[in-house]
Amino acid sequence: MRRVYFDHSATTPVRPDVADEMCAFLKENFGNPTSLHYFGRQARKEVEAAREKVAAAIGATPNEIVFTSGGTESDNMAIHGVAMINKNKGNHIITSAVEHHAVINTVKALGKEGFTVTILPVDKYGMVSVDDVAAAITDKTILITIMHANNEVGTIMPIKEIGSLARSKGITMHTDAVQSFGKIPFSVEELGVDLLTISGHKIYGPKGVGALYIRKGTRWKQSLFHGGAQERLRRAGTENVPGIVGLGKAAELAIRDLQSEAEHLKALRDRLIHEVTTKIDYVKLTGHPTMRLPNHASFTFEFIEGESMLLSLDLKGVAASSGSACTSGSLEPSHVLLAMGIPHEIAHGSIRITLGRDNTMEDIDYFLEIMPPIVNRLRAMSPLDQETEFAINGSCDACKAHGSCKM
Ligand SMILES: *Cc1c(COP(=O)(O)O)cnc(C)c1O
Repeated sequence: MRRVYFDHSATTPVRPDVADEMCAFLKENFGNPTSLHYFGRQARKEVEAAREKVAAAIGATPNEIVFTSGGTESDNMAIHGVAMINKNKGNHIITSAVEHHAVINTVKALGKEGFTVTILPVDKYGMVSVDDVAAAITDKTILITIMHANNEVGTIMPIKEIGSLARSKGITMHTDAVQSFGKIPFSVEELGVDLLTISGHKIYGPKGVGALYIRKGTRWKQSLFHGGAQERLRRAGTENVPGIVGLGKAAELAIRDLQSEAEHLKALRDRLIHEVTTKIDYVKLTGHPTMRLPNHASFTFEFIEGESMLLSLDLKGVAASSGSACTSGSLEPSHVLLAMGIPHEIAHGSIRITLGRDNTMEDIDYFLEIMPPIVNRLRAMSPLDQETEFAINGSCDACKAHGSCKM
């Protein structure tokens, strides 16, 4: 069967060049970078070479890069570290309602430990307003953490403006750039951020490795792991050498190919969005129409549930994902779609197509061929296929069936 992978925001395949570089470190070059002998020095050399590559990719210096176990750890480490060192200065943290759980749950946990949290709303495109950030700042604000690009709807946030606002007020600024890194060009200078998160497996590198950029001079405290002196006392634990080597290579290639990849992806994305929204009824694009990631298309289909679409697509060999968290074991629709003001019953019908470097126009054609019959069949079966009832009652049978709807 034809297999089409359309879920690159969830993870990406490891590029062959990346896998090749990593292999040597799994097979032969096994040294511990802390060791002083030959084996250790070889490993250390490669870790430092990878650090230079990651630093170059975001316009940082190597000493500003700390390797971690991934985006989740980098987000936790950034937020926790800034909060802990500034405890005596202030206790107010600003974030947005559409952050990844790695940010939102970290901030909420600090909220239970005496920090005050402002969770900014977003507009219908999932965008935070710079004016709202400005209005939320108090003399107790110590950290602003807002993502660069959203994983569920692809919207690119005005980080440059928020970064310069933060800087003018002397507030530390973190951004989760897991989704934007390698897809849109940026540097930490241009964004004006103090901390920035990236992850290996979202850029055709390995899982379980990421990095946190910490600008030189930023007040930040290692506060999660207690252990050895690795990463200049910023992250204890023996380095994941093969992973770090893979991340370095993946970062280098991502930047080298960024421009051509973006053009390729945009062509596929734009055709997909145009065809889906014109050929299928009751479909809306979610996220920003233009300020969005080049590989990202996300939609809501009325009168259908996201997970039934996913299962039908999977039967046809197409791997996509749903913004509705029903598939991931939770009954609530995506917090991102709800924050954008999309009603519960419509948010349940969301689907996300995230393209990658190996996708082709034939993949798009295949999707456009199989999708309309899937939609028609599901709508014919669906208890939700009751437009008028929706309009009159605003009721949501799917939510009720799940017992999750509060309407
Ligand atoms: C995937 C992702 C993360 C988490 O990264 P992991 O390396 O999987 O822990 C964090 N933020 C965003 C926006 C993501 O898409």
